[in-house]
Amino acid sequence: MDFDLPEEHRAFRDMIHRWVDNECPKDWARKLEADEDNYPFALWDKFTEAGFHGIGIDEKYGGQGGDVLMQMLLARELARSLGGLAWIWGITSFAGSKSIGLYGTQAQKDKYLPLIASGQLKAAISFTEPAGGTDLLGTMTTTATKVDSGWVINGEKIWSSSAHVADRLLCIARTDKNVEKKHQGLTLFWVDAKTPGVKITPLPKLGMRSMGSCSVVYDNAFVADEDVLAEPNRAWYTLLPTLNNERIMVGAFCLGVIDGVLEDALAYVKQRKAFGKIIGQFQILQHYIADIATMQASTELMLHFCAAKQAKGENVGTEANMLKLMASENANHAADLGIQILGGMGYSAETDMQRYWRDSRLWRIGPITNEMVKNGIAESLGLPRSF
Ligand SMILES: Cc1cc2nc3c(=O)[nH]c(=O)nc-3n(C[C@H](O)[C@H](O)[C@H](O)COP(=O)(O)OP(=O)(O)OC[C@H]3O[C@@H](n4cnc5c(N)ncnc54)[C@H](O)[C@@H]3O)c2cc1C
Repeated sequence: MDFDLPEEHRAFRDMIHRWVDNECPKDWARKLEADEDNYPFALWDKFTEAGFHGIGIDEKYGGQGGDVLMQMLLARELARSLGGLAWIWGITSFAGSKSIGLYGTQAQKDKYLPLIASGQLKAAISFTEPAGGTDLLGTMTTTATKVDSGWVINGEKIWSSSAHVADRLLCIARTDKNVEKKHQGLTLFWVDAKTPGVKITPLPKLGMRSMGSCSVVYDNAFVADEDVLAEPNRAWYTLLPTLNNERIMVGAFCLGVIDGVLEDALAYVKQRKAFGKIIGQFQILQHYIADIATMQASTELMLHFCAAKQAKGENVGTEANMLKLMASENANHAADLGIQILGGMGYSAETDMQRYWRDSRLWRIGPITNEMVKNGIAESLGLPRSF
């Protein structure tokens, strides 16, 4: 086993690390995140200038290329400062470049990949419904009905992040009710967010505030045939191979948060004093720091293991579930310890620990809850389905 990053990847990581320190320092990220009513377009534009929207997109479509390992390194380095706002890059990368790149038609690739790579198209994921995200397939009420030259969508989605600024919504809807199994009869649509009948409303929430997560109502929204993604009625089979990628990306975001927490905690304990000593001299705080560093190392190993296997085209379903579980629990626990280490300043809006805590709290819930992830791991060990 080779635990070292290849030279090209190491150079890429170091370049991004420096870029983040110069262009997206934590102070700036903190202000952007807190500005609840304003999407951080300035951050999006910086990603555009740096070419990050093109990472993972083939050069023939104006992208930068880059394998899953590079995407993971970028995700980690961005989250070290940006926390959950790293999704500003990640959502379009996942809903846009990955979806169109993996299962778009040639015409869809030619039209949309250059727009995504050049930062001219933002995408959002419109899957979860108000009646439930975990049992999405069982509770889905959004339907699309075939009409002349297209489909008409009716229904409601919830928590579609960045939908209020998106150009396109990656929406899943039931297109056939006469099916044996609930994962059959579903279709993916690449909906123009300006379509008449699409109503998007941001919802107040705990973290990643300026990113905006939205209710999206589809009221007789017409979508042309050319905006169907992949084969109609087979959306679930299309999506399954991309889920591991999403979990690896979440693992990388969580690791970036742990990096940020450790950096800030170490800096603080070396200068803050109590009882005439720096607080870093107290054994219990040293233990907290040691715990965070151990979470960082174990998450990093699991992340690299999954990304390397995925890059080789091996099946990482169970490992990606384990990564998502451990990375999100570790990131949220590390941020919690970080708050404790900083005391009152950890709770203050003037430092980043509270932001790391709020942002990483989501990753224990989404894109899939850790309870559901554990169900998957248990089933992979031969245990019967529990639900
Ligand atoms: C800030 C934020 C951003 C999001 N962004 C997006 C987005 O961009 N696009 C999108 O489509 N969705 C998004 N989501 C939705 C997210 O994926 C869902 O919240 C998540 O899948 C959980 O669904 P739910 O909230 O309906 O919880 P529920 O499904 O109602 O679950 C409630 C509880 O029941 C538990 N539970 C349910 N079934 C089982 C079971 N079988 N075994 C054990 N426990 C179970 C769950 O683990 C959880 O603890 C976002 C959510 C949030 C909060």
